[in-house]
Amino acid sequence: MNSPMRLLLIDDDEVDRMAVIRSLKKSTTNVSEVITAATASEGLELASREHFDAILLDYRLPDQDGLAVLQTLRSGNFESGTVVMLSRHEDETLAERCLEAGAQDFLLKDEVNGRRLYRAVRQARQRYQIQDALNRSREQLLELSVHDPLTGLLNRRGFDNAMKKEFARAQRSDSNELALLLLDLDDFKNINDIHGHATGDLLLIEVAQRLNTVIRDNDYLCRLGGDEFVIVMTLLEHEEQAVELANRIFSILQQPFKIGTTTADQSVTASIGIAMLDGSDDHTEDLLKCADIAMYHAKKTGRNQCQYYSSALQQLVQSRIRIKNDLSVALDRNEFRVFYQAQFNASDRSLGGAEALLRWQHPELGLLSPDVFMPIAEETGLIVSIGNWVLHEGCRQLKEWQLNYPELAGNMTIAINLSPVQIKQHSLSTAVHNALDKHALDANCLELEITESAMIEDTTATAEILSAISHHGITFSLDDFGTGYSSLVHLKQFPISVLKIDKGFVSSIENDDKNKRLLIAIIAFAKALEMCVVAEGVETVEQAEICTEYSCDLLQGYYFARPLPADQFEATFFSS
Ligand code: C2E
Ligand code: CA
Ligand code: CA
Repeated sequence: MNSPMRLLLIDDDEVDRMAVIRSLKKSTTNVSEVITAATASEGLELASREHFDAILLDYRLPDQDGLAVLQTLRSGNFESGTVVMLSRHEDETLAERCLEAGAQDFLLKDEVNGRRLYRAVRQARQRYQIQDALNRSREQLLELSVHDPLTGLLNRRGFDNAMKKEFARAQRSDSNELALLLLDLDDFKNINDIHGHATGDLLLIEVAQRLNTVIRDNDYLCRLGGDEFVIVMTLLEHEEQAVELANRIFSILQQPFKIGTTTADQSVTASIGIAMLDGSDDHTEDLLKCADIAMYHAKKTGRNQCQYYSSALQQLVQSRIRIKNDLSVALDRNEFRVFYQAQFNASDRSLGGAEALLRWQHPELGLLSPDVFMPIAEETGLIVSIGNWVLHEGCRQLKEWQLNYPELAGNMTIAINLSPVQIKQHSLSTAVHNALDKHALDANCLELEITESAMIEDTTATAEILSAISHHGITFSLDDFGTGYSSLVHLKQFPISVLKIDKGFVSSIENDDKNKRLLIAIIAFAKALEMCVVAEGVETVEQAEICTEYSCDLLQGYYFARPLPADQFEATFFSS
């Protein structure tokens, strides 16, 4: 290093600055330029913009302590390598602290001379070069290593190597004898969170050991990272071998593990995705992606199971992704519609109400029913804003009808379905009242339909939310009764005054005598609680008659009317 040095001098004392510069100039020709800064912030600013061969830093600065400045300079965002601390007084401890914090040298101001600086810069350069060489060789070592240090299994790189080899072999022999099993532990994050990472690591090691006992000689077992393992099965004779291996894995994981300090040992479950080489994939990546899609599906469909990758599954996954993306803009684009299905009084078959049923007019896929998008709307939370829209639209529509057909007033209710996700929102009560207020609709014209699944979680909180709403005269009905828990406790705990008997029940009453007797019992029981009973899914005249005979209050179903757009509903049921 013979080229002259460019220096930055950070010192607030002008006299000291002049002295340092003078002695530098006097003692060496190696300094080309000295830029000065009077404060720490000014100095840091300069150092962040320009390159200096060395920074001379006064320990005592008006705005920041020299050590703090040193630490900032060392933080990695500054490229100037060498920092020399300056002090007016001798102070051994301070000198040590500065050197520890990364200063190259600690000089008294009157000791500063070009030679010492030159030496400090040169040493810093050498140190940097050694460090750099060390870093590079460490990377090279890592590059070469194919094993995961924790479990000793093949790591991602080892997996890639194995795949390359086996892929080539399978292609040469023109056979589909390769399968991937991608395994992800269920709830591993919980174990880490509850018992700490050390326990999590021990569990991973034991899982790896157990997996090792079930794979065949020609298989590769790899840990891709975290709690994700992959098994490359080679030389397969038949596809079922992959499922057999998955089943063996489930059973070895079922043997209890000792986790942390808990006394009771626990078993562990995993989700497994299986992808087979089928001749059409030509990259390792593709096969792994397929196994990943299958594994994700296994997680979604309840965990602790394995799923096969298939092109049908891929289509399903892709169409879900599409629905999810499109759904996020559907409300803004005004693509939702509400259809209305009429409900009739059983006694005289007069119109008693309508249930609002959501549809999505998708620009390319056409009119979609809620089964297609509701699960995704719930999963993403979009249902809260969509549900709120339905609430407003339903209230608006009924009000319009009431104004146009005064004879309706008070005789017709509108029933709106609420998702369990909406019911958990404390803002629900406000949302409901806003909708009624905005459209000047009477609270007792509105009925909110909920399902039992909404009530099982956080029962007390949910009961409070619903009670607050019902106090204002809004009715709750329990939808799909007979399919879920059909729990009597729920009916008591929640402010429910209408019971909707599920269509599955209604459709079987004609030829299933047991169901018919159950229906009678349910009606009697609901009546005892002074509830109103609605039979839904009434499709035949016989069903309508039986339900009427056993005193259902309202009937709803295709026999009477399908869900219709508002204008058709109006044309069919209202006489002007
Ligand atoms: P649900 O609340 O049980 O609604 C009744 C479903 O049964 C409707 O399906 C309706 O078209 C259908 N249905 C009516 N009568 C008959 C019949 O006689 N036979 C048969 N087989 N089916 C009949 P839809 O409109 O496809 O809605 C499906 C589900 O989507 C609804 O079931 C409800 O759970 C949900 N849903 C609909 N709109 C909304 C909404 O605005 N918000 C929420 N959260 N969920 C909604
Ligand atoms: Ca319903
Ligand atoms: Ca229903």
